[in-house]
Amino acid sequence: MSGRLPDELIDRIRESNDIVDVISERIPLKRAGVNYKGRCPFHQEKTPSFNVNPQRQIYHCFGCGVGGNVITFLMEYEKLDFLDAIRELAQRAGIALPGRGSGRSAEDDPVFAANQMAVEFFQSSLKGSSGGPAREYVKDRGLGSEVVTEFAIGYAPPGWDNLIKHARASGVKESVLVEAGLAVPREGGGQYDRFRDRLIFPLLAAAGKAVGFGGRAFGDAEPKYLNSPETRVYRKSHYLYGLNQARQSIRMTREAILVEGYMDVLSLVQAGFRNAIASAGTALTHEQAKIIDRYADKVFVAYDGDDAGLSAATRAAEALVELGLKVRVVLLPDGNDPDSYVREHGPDALREALATAQDFIDFFVSTNATDTADGREQAARALIETVSHVADPIKADLMLEKVAEALSLRHGAVVRLYEAKRAELTSRRPRGERRGRGAGPRGNHRGEDAGRRTDGGGVRTAGSGSMEEPPPPTDPQGNDVGTPPREVSSLVRSAEEGLLALLLAGGGHAERVRAAAKPDEFVSDPVRGLVARIWETPGRAAVDVSRLIEPDDGPGVAKLLTELAMRELPEDGGRLCDDYIRTKRRAQIEQEIRVVEEEIRAAELTDDGALMTRVARRLELARKLEDLSGGR
Ligand SMILES: [Zn+2]
Repeated sequence: MSGRLPDELIDRIRESNDIVDVISERIPLKRAGVNYKGRCPFHQEKTPSFNVNPQRQIYHCFGCGVGGNVITFLMEYEKLDFLDAIRELAQRAGIALPGRGSGRSAEDDPVFAANQMAVEFFQSSLKGSSGGPAREYVKDRGLGSEVVTEFAIGYAPPGWDNLIKHARASGVKESVLVEAGLAVPREGGGQYDRFRDRLIFPLLAAAGKAVGFGGRAFGDAEPKYLNSPETRVYRKSHYLYGLNQARQSIRMTREAILVEGYMDVLSLVQAGFRNAIASAGTALTHEQAKIIDRYADKVFVAYDGDDAGLSAATRAAEALVELGLKVRVVLLPDGNDPDSYVREHGPDALREALATAQDFIDFFVSTNATDTADGREQAARALIETVSHVADPIKADLMLEKVAEALSLRHGAVVRLYEAKRAELTSRRPRGERRGRGAGPRGNHRGEDAGRRTDGGGVRTAGSGSMEEPPPPTDPQGNDVGTPPREVSSLVRSAEEGLLALLLAGGGHAERVRAAAKPDEFVSDPVRGLVARIWETPGRAAVDVSRLIEPDDGPGVAKLLTELAMRELPEDGGRLCDDYIRTKRRAQIEQEIRVVEEEIRAAELTDDGALMTRVARRLELARKLEDLSGGR
C-alpha cells in the first residue's frame, strides 16, 4: 500500500484522543459553560479567548481566529506534519499504525492483545504459587499493593515456555508472541519465553495499554534488566516509563523528576512523588525530551550518584536545556540512586535534595570544570554548544550571562563564541531540516496520494482543487459558463456563512436550510464546497465538524468551520434562516440585474436582436425582487 492511511483509521485515532485532554496536556484550560477556555497558545493575550468545545471536539480562538480539531492543534502546536501528528496521537491512544509497506490493517493490532494477555499472566503469576520470592522482593523494596496494582507489576516464572503455553490456551498465536517480543524464535524451529524468572514492569502507554515490558532479574542473573525489543507498537526512544501515571501530576505542578530506572520511579511514587518518570533502557533522547517539554516547565534530573550517573545526567540535562526547560540536577551521595536514597533517608531528605538541586550551569561547572584555564575553556565551549541549541533568545541570553559569571569569563567573549556556534548551526542545518520543525509543503500530508479523497461523488485534490481556491465559474443553475467567477458581496458571504452555521447545528436548523436552499445556490468560497460536502449526508445529528476539518483545506477553512460551529444559535432558527435566504437571493438578483443592464446597454449599441429578451429578463428580475421584499 502507499503511504496513505485509511480514512477510517484516521477517524478512529482522532476519536480516541479527546481534544480537551490533548490540549490541557499542553496549556491550562478552565471549564466555562459548554466550552473550556484558556489563554491562546497562538497569539499573545491576557484574557482567555481560546475555546475548546468537548462535544464538537474542536477549538477556536476568538482573538486571532485559529481553529481546528485535535490533529490540526497538534500540527500547529508541536509544529508537526500531518503524519507525525497522526503517529503521535496513535501512540497516545495505543493504536498501532500499519507498518510501512506491510499492508497490515492497524485495526486492533494483535500485538496489543498479546501484550494484554501477558500483563494478566505475569500479574497472576506474581500472586500464584511460584511467585513467593518475587513477592518477597517487592515487599523488601517497600512497594505497597497499590503501587504494584497501579503499575501492573508482575512476575515471569522460571521455565522456557510458561507464557507460550498460556498464550496457546488463550488462542494467541506464537507468531504474534514473537512479533510482540515476548517469545524468541529458536534456531531450528520453535520459540521460548523471553522473560523468565524476572520481576516484570509492563510499559504502559497513555491509554493504559502495554506497549512492551521490562524485566528485572533476581540475584546475580545477567543481564540485570532485560527489555522488550522495539515492535510495531513500541519505540524505545519515544517512551517514558511512568509518564502514564505521572501525567496528571506533572501537568498540574509543571515539574517532573527524571530518574534512570523502573525501581526509581516506583520508589518515588511509593514515597509520594507522583511526578517521577524514567527513560528506562536508554539515555534520554531528543524525542523523550520533547515529550517532557510538553508537560513540564522544570525538570529535576535525579540520576545515580556515581560517575556514570553524573555523565548520563549531564547528557540528559543538555537535551532538556536545549528545549528551553529549566533544569535542576540533583546530586545524590555516591553509591545512592533515588530508589535507595528515598528508602533509606525518607521523603523529606529527597525533598531537601530537590530543593537544593543545582541549576544546570552550576552543576556542569562544578562537575566538569577544573580551576585551570584549560578546564574553564573546555567547560565554556561545551556549555556554549548546548546554549546554541536553545531556540528562545532571551533564555539563551540569560544562560550566556550565567556561563560567563560561573567561569569568570568576559561576557563579550562568551557571546562571540556563541554567535559563531549559532552561525555554524544554521549553515549546517538549512531551514526545515530538523525533523518536525518547519515541515515541508502542506499539501502532501498523506503520502503520494495526498489530498485525494473521494467524498461521495467528487474527488478533491490538495494542489489544484483545494477549498480556498475559487471554484470553476458557474451560473445559478450550476452549469459551466466559462466566465471568471463573479465577485461575491460580503452580504452574500455572511448570509451563506449563517446558513452553514445552521446546517452544522443539525436538527431543525439544518432541516430548515435543506428545505429552503440547494447546495448549488451557494456561491461564496469556501462555504460552497463545505455545504456540498455536508449535503451528501443528511440526518438530524449535528455535523461532525471535527471530522470535516481537513488539514489540506488550509487554515482558513478550519477557522471558519470552528467559528461557525461555536456560534450561539437561537432556539428557533426559522426567522434567521429566512432572513439569510432572503438576503442571499436579493443580493443575487441585484447582481444579475447589474449584469442584464450592462447587456441591455450593449444591445442598444449593436442592436443584435437580443435587446428585447434582455429587457424582458430585467423586468422579470425586478418582479422577483419585489416578491422577495413583499414576503416580509
Ligand atoms: Zn488566538
